[in-house]
Amino acid sequence: MNPSSPSSFSACTNADLHSHSKVSDGTLEPEALAARAQANGVELWALTDHDEIGGQQRAMDAALALGISYLTGCEISVSFAGRVVHIVGLGFDHHNEALVAGLRATRGGREARAREMAAGLAQVGIKGAYEGALHYVGNPELISRTHFARFLVEAGHCQDVSEVFRRYLTLGKPGYVEHRWAALRDALAWIHGAGGIAVIAHPGRYDFTPTEEYALFTDFIGHGGRAVEVVTGSHTAAEAAKYTETALEFGLLASRGSDFHSPTESHTDLGKLPDLSGRLTPVWQALDARIQRPS
Ligand code: AMP
Ligand code: MN
Ligand code: MN
Ligand code: MN
Repeated sequence: MNPSSPSSFSACTNADLHSHSKVSDGTLEPEALAARAQANGVELWALTDHDEIGGQQRAMDAALALGISYLTGCEISVSFAGRVVHIVGLGFDHHNEALVAGLRATRGGREARAREMAAGLAQVGIKGAYEGALHYVGNPELISRTHFARFLVEAGHCQDVSEVFRRYLTLGKPGYVEHRWAALRDALAWIHGAGGIAVIAHPGRYDFTPTEEYALFTDFIGHGGRAVEVVTGSHTAAEAAKYTETALEFGLLASRGSDFHSPTESHTDLGKLPDLSGRLTPVWQALDARIQRPS
């Protein structure tokens, strides 16, 4: 190891442990994200594509070549209490067979779902949405609502992707299709079996009652989950403060990540986030032995 490279990271490290590339629904290649992370002063990075770890080696190689430390990552779509919850996995062995197979199974229903979404959109006069969305897809196994949103903006149906989600792609809207994702227990077993730590992603974004949210946290911990994303692109300062208290109350480690998808669509750029509260223990301290450091 280079003597000047850090052997451990602190609470003030510019860690960005949530981001997406073209391997899922981001618009940049892993190498371009690594370059952007470097330009923005990120010291420790994780690419966390949805339900897919095919970009991990490229992201790791690019990060290390640019002098950035790296943790493996993914964001798993989970069905819980009738909603979709996202679980970020960090610091796992990305060659682990059970993890690779579990993620492949999770991706499996996306194509049929996308065809149903297009059929729903056709009923309200939006034709060719499946083919249109495919035009934006980098990974054919990972067609997502985001790709439909980009097509609907391009075709002039909406001004921006937020409007598409509001009008067409959320519960009760014409392009929304109920889908069965991974079970919480399975997602955590895949992450833990591969040596990683599981993180509840952006808890402020779920439309849960306090009772449902409590059930999510207690079930998550019951299955060995250890961390929660406190500072993230879609959290307000009030939500970050709220989940700081939740992390302390449940004894969870804390994570920080922009959830960056695209230079034009994301609210928060890579690494441009407030620090975690000094009262929290960063998840990257518990993952110190799993961090890949530049030589
Ligand atoms: P999917 O996995 O196909 O259901 O797509 C989920 C993705 O859609 C998320 O990962 C976000 O990137 C994006 N998304 C969800 N809700 C919104 C929203 N309200 N505005 C913009 N993007 C959203
Ligand atoms: Mn996404
Ligand atoms: Mn998410
Ligand atoms: Mn995400």
